[in-house]
Amino acid sequence: MPAGDEGCPTGRTRLAAGAVVTGDAAGSIWRPGVVDIDGGRIVHVGPSSSAPEHHGRTVACPGLVMPGLVNTHGHSPMTLLRGVGEGLPLDRWLRHAIWPREAHLTPEDVFWGMTLGCGEMLRCGVTTSCETYFHDTAVVDAVVEAGMRCLVTPGILDIPGTGPGRGWRAMLDAAGELHAEADGRAGLVSVGLGPHAAYTLPVEALTAAGRLARELDTILTIHLAETASEDHQLQAEHSMTVPALLDEIGVLDARVLAAHAVWLTDADIALLAERRVAVAHCPQSNAKLGSGIARLVDLLQAGVTVGLGTDGPASNNDLDLWEELRLAPLLARARAADASVIDAVSAFGLATRGGAAALGIDAGVLAPGRLADVVHVRTDDPRFVPVLADADLMAHLVWSSASHLVADVWVGGRQVVAAGVCTSVDTVEAARQVQARAARLAAAVGR
Ligand SMILES: [Zn+2]
Repeated sequence: MPAGDEGCPTGRTRLAAGAVVTGDAAGSIWRPGVVDIDGGRIVHVGPSSSAPEHHGRTVACPGLVMPGLVNTHGHSPMTLLRGVGEGLPLDRWLRHAIWPREAHLTPEDVFWGMTLGCGEMLRCGVTTSCETYFHDTAVVDAVVEAGMRCLVTPGILDIPGTGPGRGWRAMLDAAGELHAEADGRAGLVSVGLGPHAAYTLPVEALTAAGRLARELDTILTIHLAETASEDHQLQAEHSMTVPALLDEIGVLDARVLAAHAVWLTDADIALLAERRVAVAHCPQSNAKLGSGIARLVDLLQAGVTVGLGTDGPASNNDLDLWEELRLAPLLARARAADASVIDAVSAFGLATRGGAAALGIDAGVLAPGRLADVVHVRTDDPRFVPVLADADLMAHLVWSSASHLVADVWVGGRQVVAAGVCTSVDTVEAARQVQARAARLAAAVGR
């Protein structure tokens, strides 16, 4: 069953909005407009003046409605590790701060970490995320309970003595089993594969992961070219870049989502475009960990599908995708020394339709037939003044809006945030659980 059609509320609902920001490539806005929802999907979008007759429930959205934001790269259960290893570069941060703690994680820890992450994301208007972590059944349970859409890509690692304590073969087998059990669950969950990176797995494991992703016709996500030095040894051994190596061993024959993709050659970018590899661009994580600035303009010009990602809350340190929505074009313009690159419509598209396309989900645009993942943003705020033309709304969304203006959120037509409060997650209890469990993890590694 395709994710998105099971267990959705029935009965037609109309969102009557001050403005409908459709999120399409043309930047279309209906002011005022309506979005009609039925069975978890959008059935009509357009201006109020020509809206069809409606007999169901009507919800007044005096601000603007827009597609839910899509987080294409996260390790959200790491809310348990938020703030850990501050100031360390990626390699030492992983080996000395993160992996030792992760070795002590239980499924219950991951459930509560993910639950808090869902509460944080939904509250910010993030309706879908792609999650790579461990104890993935707990991730699935958490997202289903929270009513959030998720591509769960079980992490596959091979680091003796530091990681979660199982070899890559067992982890790959378990990922295949999870796909059989949970793909399509509650109309919210898709299951992919998350081999960590070329520098943390043998070539044999990468090859096997690519093969399984093709067999299951699912998405394989992998950290790629995150730092300048991570793959030096691998590149010396094989005399080719890591994207070329992944192509050589068949991994790029699968549906691949490359996270970070900071340090790419021109030939790498051409290869990603040719092989239809999507990229999860994580500008804030890359900036915070000092990893570099990805070549966003070049990737888009080459025709690569790009979405935005927060990365884990231990390296960001939040799950508020509005920050990436603004930082991505800011850094791209700073890098290019050119204010004309990445306009507001393109930037907004990265966080919405680009992300949805990268994850292979039918959302990211308010249009008939798409999943009803919708966000109502308040515009009765100085950040939205003045609005003299439709284009001003788009500019304000990218350059001056912020997550605290998110008022209401629907995922598959089911309301999960009302009047700025997440109603599907008990965030007070989740925060209490994460606080206590984080303290236990710190004690376990003697910190
Ligand atoms: Zn990551």
